[in-house]
Amino acid sequence: MKGKVYLVGAGPGDPDLLTVKALRVLKMADAVLHDDLVAPEILKLIPTTAQVHNVGKRCGKKRILQEEINFLMVALADTGLRVVRLKSGDPLVFGRAGEEIESLRRASIPFEIVPGVTSAMGAAGVAQIPLTHRRASSALVFITAHQAPGSDAANWSKLAGSGATLVIYMPGQNYSEVSAKLRAAGLADETPCAVISRATTPQQQTHRSTIAGLTGSPKLAAPALLIVGEVVRFADPVALAQQFAASSVSTVNEGSIPAARFASPDFGTPEEPLS
Ligand code: SAH
Repeated sequence: MKGKVYLVGAGPGDPDLLTVKALRVLKMADAVLHDDLVAPEILKLIPTTAQVHNVGKRCGKKRILQEEINFLMVALADTGLRVVRLKSGDPLVFGRAGEEIESLRRASIPFEIVPGVTSAMGAAGVAQIPLTHRRASSALVFITAHQAPGSDAANWSKLAGSGATLVIYMPGQNYSEVSAKLRAAGLADETPCAVISRATTPQQQTHRSTIAGLTGSPKLAAPALLIVGEVVRFADPVALAQQFAASSVSTVNEGSIPAARFASPDFGTPEEPLS
């Protein structure tokens, strides 16, 4: 009898951000295939009876191919095991879940997807950035700075022109490169942005800056992501209030955000939803 595969989102790091279902499924796993980015505290929740495979593509002694992961997942489920494919964040966001789903379908293995808190949400939460705000942005785009070779790169100019909040996954350590890409896409130098590293873990760090200022920003530890857009100003109520009195404000770390150009300092009344 065939087993079943669960593609499970482990969230951004904090074990409290696992969903109730993710925890339940993890607790009954016979085998777990996990990525490098899954937090050690979450790996501790795996039953000791389960076989555990680190199929991370970064840390292992040798690089593991996606095809090998697909093969292992199918082979384990074929022997009747309940297999948890544990991915950081949400399994459907930059997680190669599409390829895994294809191979499960080809092998007629039953599977289920258990969503997780994607790191954009975890990072926005710790940095207190509203990803949408009715006065600043009503659209949200998840984008990666790294594409597979040969894949269609997203049209950054189109995205930048849309006024949407951009969440850039995998920005890399070369912030100057991302900064140049954003400027080339047409975003203004003073557009606020924030790098959030290891969000929701005890090592989390946030650095707010501007697109121009990014070039001199400290390199924060991976995994990190970048949030770009006017909404970043809302992370700092003091700075937001001061923008009407001064031309520049200081930030959490050493970056600085020039004054915003919002029409009014009135951020709504309790009766009005803010975002
Ligand atoms: N499926 C994952 C994304 C995997 S791609 C999700 O939904 O979050 C890996 C990228 O996610 C990293 O390069 C980084 O940009 C981001 N990331 C993952 N965990 C993170 C964390 N705790 N803090 C900040 N960024 C994180």
